[in-house]
Amino acid sequence: MRDNGYVILGSGMAGFGAANTLFENGIRAKLYDKRSRPGGLTSSFGSGDGFVFDEGVHISFAKNTRVKELFARSTNQQFETGNVYCNNYWQGYWIKHPAQVNLHGLPTDLVVNCIKDFIEARQQPNPEIRNYEDWLMAAFGPTFANTFPMVYTKKYHTTEAANMSTDWLGPRLYRPNLDEVLRGALEHEPLDVFYVSEFRYPTEGGFESFIKGFYDKAQVFCDHELVGIDLKDRKLSFRNGTTTTFEKLISSLPLPVLIPLITDAPREVREAAARLACTQVVVVNVGLNRPIETKPQWSYFYDEDIPFARVSYRGNLSPKTVPEGCGGMQAEIYFSEKYRPLTESRDEWIERAIDGLIKCGLIGSRREIIHQSAITLPFGNIIFDLERKAAVDTVHGYLDEVGIHYCGRFGQWGYIWTDAAFMSGERAARAALGVKELEEA
Ligand SMILES: Cc1cc2nc3c(=O)[nH]c(=O)nc-3n(C[C@H](O)[C@H](O)[C@H](O)COP(=O)(O)OP(=O)(O)OC[C@H]3O[C@@H](n4cnc5c(N)ncnc54)[C@H](O)[C@@H]3O)c2cc1C
Repeated sequence: MRDNGYVILGSGMAGFGAANTLFENGIRAKLYDKRSRPGGLTSSFGSGDGFVFDEGVHISFAKNTRVKELFARSTNQQFETGNVYCNNYWQGYWIKHPAQVNLHGLPTDLVVNCIKDFIEARQQPNPEIRNYEDWLMAAFGPTFANTFPMVYTKKYHTTEAANMSTDWLGPRLYRPNLDEVLRGALEHEPLDVFYVSEFRYPTEGGFESFIKGFYDKAQVFCDHELVGIDLKDRKLSFRNGTTTTFEKLISSLPLPVLIPLITDAPREVREAAARLACTQVVVVNVGLNRPIETKPQWSYFYDEDIPFARVSYRGNLSPKTVPEGCGGMQAEIYFSEKYRPLTESRDEWIERAIDGLIKCGLIGSRREIIHQSAITLPFGNIIFDLERKAAVDTVHGYLDEVGIHYCGRFGQWGYIWTDAAFMSGERAARAALGVKELEEA
């Protein structure tokens, strides 16, 4: 099968969503990535001592049946499935997620003040919502907002809620009614209102097994870091000295990486791309000499003196991710060039993460640790700061004008998951082919 001049940049879910669609249309595109192996953020890696880790917690919440089936086929139908259960840690207390409807067991004064504020907030007729902080205050009132989501926002998004928009929220943050808040405060049996319920995770090989089945749908060139795009000659240059030409270009590269590489990209577009903010993540991997006896797939951490925002439990995703009789965890610590630059070394963050895991009781002592390592993700989550929307519109407008098809989390510059990244790659490929969009939910 020939490439017909189709080139895809980036080998994550978006790149392979595009590759798969082109393949179904008789084209085996050239696909380039700077890393030494394909997979992007969906890569998994063996530790060498029996643990399998992902690039931070990755679980599939895909709802589209066609995409679910494609991912399942990639694993030869070998995947784990179950109901999502996650919880929150706050100053020594563990409560089910979402905290706003599971206040039972927290200190009485805190619960009383959360409820009083909640009732008062809901009585405000038309609160002005200029940013995420306003939204939190209107949805929950100050006690809950200040104790939980405002602190978490700084840990996870690295900036203040007042500096963020609300266009990323969707169903992510549950807005309960008073009945639900009261029930969750009085009853021990928590409510199930989390916005995702069923999950899937490959039995073998980590999350990457959901993408591996697509690796042969393109001609994959790893160790090819793109360093230049000449739109006039339709030529791409790579750091290793090679070049290639293209007829159609589909990019899942982060917009702030892509734009400066385009010869003659206008100054206002370069400046807009430079304003886009994204988190970087240090993911600390820990293996223990005993199983981790906890129910959730992952937990959220609100305390400022605990560096990580989230911890996931490997064995609760698939028992094959840990050696027999052992336990594995991944703790995620968030930074950003714009708001919280990463200055300390990875080793330092490993030590601080382990201190935090001991503090909240997930590790008894350092003697239990049989594996510790860390990876840094240069692009994690898009930060929906107040500058984002205008800057994204400028950059997308330019890419539309010059005919570069963009896709994926960092091409769309949106809060999208693996299934949505894959589907955005499919859409970009269909646009490049000039064929009709699929009609599906
Ligand atoms: C910590 C964390 C946890 C997550 N958890 C989940 C989850 O539970 N479930 C879920 O569905 N999603 C989750 N996501 C989101 C998911 O990872 C993304 O939506 C998805 O993987 C994005 O795929 P992509 O192809 O758009 O981007 P990527 O996978 O990042 O692919 C982009 C590729 O571009 C390459 N590239 C960059 N610059 C260059 C260059 N100059 N030249 C060549 N190549 C280049 C990169 O190496 C990379 O491989 C999580 C994300 C993070 C960060």
